[in-house]
Amino acid sequence: VKDVTGRTSSSASVDKFKSCFRDRYRKLRGLIRKREGFGAPMDICSVASSSGDFRIVGMVREVSTTRRGKRVLELDDETGVVSVVVPQDVLPPDEVVLPDEVVGVAGRRGGGRGSLFADEVVFPSIPRTRRVNTAGEEVYAAFISDIHVGSNTFLPRVWERFLRFLRDGGGRKGGLRVVERLKYIVAVGDLVDGIGIYPGQEEELVIDEIERQYRELARILSPIPDHVELVLLPGNHDAVRPAEPQPAFSRAVQEIFLEEGVAPRFVGNPCFMRLEGVSVLAYHGRSMDDFLSMVPGFSYERPLDAMKLMLEKRHLAPVYGGRTPLAPEPEDFLVIEEVPDIFVTGHVHSVGVETYKGVLLINSSTWQAQTEFQKRHNFNPIPGKVPVVNLGSLEYRVLDFEKG
Ligand code: FE
Ligand code: ZN
Repeated sequence: VKDVTGRTSSSASVDKFKSCFRDRYRKLRGLIRKREGFGAPMDICSVASSSGDFRIVGMVREVSTTRRGKRVLELDDETGVVSVVVPQDVLPPDEVVLPDEVVGVAGRRGGGRGSLFADEVVFPSIPRTRRVNTAGEEVYAAFISDIHVGSNTFLPRVWERFLRFLRDGGGRKGGLRVVERLKYIVAVGDLVDGIGIYPGQEEELVIDEIERQYRELARILSPIPDHVELVLLPGNHDAVRPAEPQPAFSRAVQEIFLEEGVAPRFVGNPCFMRLEGVSVLAYHGRSMDDFLSMVPGFSYERPLDAMKLMLEKRHLAPVYGGRTPLAPEPEDFLVIEEVPDIFVTGHVHSVGVETYKGVLLINSSTWQAQTEFQKRHNFNPIPGKVPVVNLGSLEYRVLDFEKG
């Protein structure tokens, strides 16, 4: 339905960054205005002259905490900047506010020096409950990611077990039924290990040439039965620009698949798609690095925590200037405009499935064993797991191919 493919601009400029962040601000303000009870916000420039209550929507320039544990939010819109003091009972310490996200604040002027105090802070958020869309019949979608072909820790035998399952159900209970009704495999990025992605990577590559990595990827994807539509997104290891949103693979990379007899659907990252009427937001998940470094208590073992925050903030990568490079497109494609039925990410090489406010959250594992980098960071990946969803009911199971 929507991604940046074919719409990327080739140059960056201050004006393009302005346009991108204005688009983010306007879209998220629109969502906050629609929240029940929030009402119409005023321009930030008019808060200075008002003496009583105020109601604004601002982009967070800075978050700081006073010695007494109150948070101070510096917010701006297209008209001005204000600082608002937020007492702890309005925003408990475990409520995360990130730079560059958009929040609504209702409050009043008070105290001797006339500071602004918040009575309420609201996030764009998603409804507590929702009616999910389902396909009219029992058809399945499988979600995979982070294959990392070319790496010396890619797990060919684990992948081989997945292929055996796709051939005839692999002797699993109910396996054949799922395979016969499997219509989609969505792979959410880091399909190959890439070249020059991190210092010293060449020591850990068994295929040190990008074209051969994609050729090998196409070769291991080719046994997937023809009745399954394969949807491929890029990730931060793939051969597209690293800045998000990322477009689909170039013609040159697509050709390699076609030469090997594989005809996937190539899409961008993120991509909002519909499978049999079920809406799916697929995002590789690079920004989880920022969530994990900025939110105390977050860990790579619990990727769904970060995904819930993305939904609450209605943005896939709110923080600018951290680990996630953002490209200044005139429109901000990382805003979550429509709440999806399924929200899937990869990147952290973990696995998890959970329903949050009616949205099925999926983090879709990896096909790579622990790398040297992960060993140094004491991280144990969870490879060879495949979340499979019945699009007719949104029931799921997680198939395990890690052990024979
Ligand atoms: Fe990865
Ligand atoms: Zn990644």
